[in-house]
Amino acid sequence: KKTMIQEYINQLNEAQRAPVLQKDGPMIVIAGAGSGKTRVLTMRIAYLMSLGVDAFNILSLTFTNKAAREMKKRISDIVGSNEAKNLWMGTFHSVFAKILRIEAEKLGYPSNFTIYDAQDSVRLIGAIIKEMQLDKDIYKPKQVFSRISSYKNSLITVKAYFNNPELMEQDAMSKKPRIGEIYNNYVERCFKSGAMDFDDLLLKTNELLNRFPDVLAKYQDRFRYILVDEYQDTNHSQYLIVRALSDRFQNICVVGDDAQSIYAFRGANINNILNFQKDYADVQLFRLEQNYRSTKNIVEAANSIIDKNKTKLDKVVWTHNQDGPKIKVNRSITDGEEGRFVASTIFDEKMRNQMKNGEFAILYRTNAQSRAMEDALRKRDIPYRIYGGLSFYQRKEIKDVLCYLRLVINPKDEEALVRVINYPARGIGDSTIEKLTVAANHYKRSIFEVMENIDKIDLKLNSGTKRKLEDFVMMIKSFQVINENQDAFFLADHVSKKTGLVQELKKDGTPEGIARIENIEELLNGIKDFIEGQKEIDGARGALSEFLEDVALATDLDKDTGDDDRVALMTIHLSKGLEFPTVFVVGMEDDLFPSAMSLNTRSELEEERRLFYVALTRAEHQAYLTYAQSRYRWGKLMDSEPSRFIEEIDDQYLEYISHTESGYRYKPMMDMDIFGDVDKSKLRLAKPTNGTPPKKYGEEPTSTIRKLKPVSGNAPSGNNLFDSGLVPGNIVMHERFGKGQVLNLEGVGADKKAEIKFDVGGIKKLLLRFAKLDVI
Ligand code: ATP
Ligand code: MG
Repeated sequence: KKTMIQEYINQLNEAQRAPVLQKDGPMIVIAGAGSGKTRVLTMRIAYLMSLGVDAFNILSLTFTNKAAREMKKRISDIVGSNEAKNLWMGTFHSVFAKILRIEAEKLGYPSNFTIYDAQDSVRLIGAIIKEMQLDKDIYKPKQVFSRISSYKNSLITVKAYFNNPELMEQDAMSKKPRIGEIYNNYVERCFKSGAMDFDDLLLKTNELLNRFPDVLAKYQDRFRYILVDEYQDTNHSQYLIVRALSDRFQNICVVGDDAQSIYAFRGANINNILNFQKDYADVQLFRLEQNYRSTKNIVEAANSIIDKNKTKLDKVVWTHNQDGPKIKVNRSITDGEEGRFVASTIFDEKMRNQMKNGEFAILYRTNAQSRAMEDALRKRDIPYRIYGGLSFYQRKEIKDVLCYLRLVINPKDEEALVRVINYPARGIGDSTIEKLTVAANHYKRSIFEVMENIDKIDLKLNSGTKRKLEDFVMMIKSFQVINENQDAFFLADHVSKKTGLVQELKKDGTPEGIARIENIEELLNGIKDFIEGQKEIDGARGALSEFLEDVALATDLDKDTGDDDRVALMTIHLSKGLEFPTVFVVGMEDDLFPSAMSLNTRSELEEERRLFYVALTRAEHQAYLTYAQSRYRWGKLMDSEPSRFIEEIDDQYLEYISHTESGYRYKPMMDMDIFGDVDKSKLRLAKPTNGTPPKKYGEEPTSTIRKLKPVSGNAPSGNNLFDSGLVPGNIVMHERFGKGQVLNLEGVGADKKAEIKFDVGGIKKLLLRFAKLDVI
């Protein structure tokens, strides 16, 4: 074991070795991205164990449980899994939930207390607001919840709140004088239900350690060595726990990077890192400078970004790694095209460089952006996984809309009906739904049919309830009429408004609520995109049913667990600490990233910039920054400007490429290198250049894909319009439908069609003058 650990320690550089070998005392490692902070923590734990420190005595707090698992695995490899499995390792929430279960009774909770997630909390707060007969447009449940959450994370209990005139005045000033009472009721109700919310897990731990000196002593004695990763993002409550637990032995090692502090909006306090040296006596400060993760280009570009921030510690990051390719900046005309660019780049790189799906990550600022990416990846048959969130089509608000749409197509769809019959709330209660279900079973009819005949069946419903059921039936039927006369986009837009879904979210007004509205917008954009694609299909049926079918297939694909090699999709916030050979940072547009909501103060903008630093430094070899010149919002194309962050990177690290589909498929090829050496000020002004072919984004000529000969002009009339050379048996790649095989060809000129069997989605007949096809 000793020689094994020695071998590992030899692999560290000198700067990394120092904090690993420093056995005792408080220490802090401050260093930039990719310099081995997490590795130092891991090695330090292995080293302590090799010196005979019992795994039970080591507490290690990480940012995600996944990070903890990976760390544990590394340590197992060195010291053996029997030893490693006894380590206390995980996120603050998971570790202290464990301890609270052991000690719960001291605080008056049952040891099997429930943990409320944010949704439960908000629902309960909503109910309390209602009971107190407060105006829920003023007391928005989610806002009240985040207020209470921030109190808890600052250790302001209900009692402390009512002892603090300043806070009470602050809430009164914001026209919510009764927040304190709501807070009080909420805490009581949670307690009575034997439940703790997320913030309680930290708050109650603090309470436990403060109120019970014997308990504190017990855990101080147990956790003789404490290690914290990503220390820059700890909040006050977490800080106090660490402070208390480490007080006796003072064997505390924290690592962090002030440049990666990205959770201030949730109460993380960067001062925890800045003040560490004041909090403990004789703190050893270590700095790491050498980055092992990324190429020179990426490291230096990232340095040039963070340089723009005024608030920062002086830090150096350099690397011995090779220069590597430049960061590629890609402009697309629309977000749909941006998605297709990302998917086709992954497709090409996989073929050219034998890369695996898991070597790619797509990072975005907001969850809604995953939709365009998911659609494009699916069409290319590239497996992906969404981290830290549901697949787009499984998100609640999206499912709600989709269930209404499913009812339009098939009112017998019971799952859909039960989901939305009383959402948004329209006074149809559970007991009514139960009666309907019983009747439906009795008559062997669907619930919807029972509702249609509610007058003829005696269910002992009062007339008010009957009216509500009839109204619901009428509403669905009116949607069906619209579906016969309008396209699916119109209908979906209408449905999301008429049902009150959007209004419900607007009322809420919190960032989460806004994000949900954005998701619905995205769904509509997806439908619009889908309809556009439908135009190519000869004799396409009603677009709505086909869209729903498409979506159903998508979720099937998501469920597939047989293949674990997947492209990773996640928000930048979630990507902290991770690394990937190739990283796409998408949606690099002003008002999106940096977010429009963060442009008010310098400190908010600086946090966005740190977020960009985090994003870029996830890349090992190749980074892509992509932006679209326009995005659909509520079905309208809105112009967008490239992110200011692109301009902030020194030009020498960037290479501009461009991918504009309409141009390179249908217009004559010309001026191959238009984006080669253009400077960025010009690029900002550049109009969509329809005639621009994409500059090759790889060093090597691309793959085996042969472009179909482009049609000249875009007015498809006359002869010789499409001399494709396409023959039955050809394997083709379609921008939207993915891979397929040509079965049959018919018609001539502008009417020439191909019947193609796609791997996903079956047989489609495409008009070749519109079809975006490549022959493979
Ligand atoms: P972040 O700030 O993004 O969390 P970090 O400082 O925690 O980064 P690590 O994740 O520990 O950095 O290390 C980055 C990469 O460099 C990892 O792949 C790690 O294995 C590798 N690495 C770190 N130190 C060395 C070393 N001495 N020799 C070789 N590779 C190293
Ligand atoms: Mg790390």
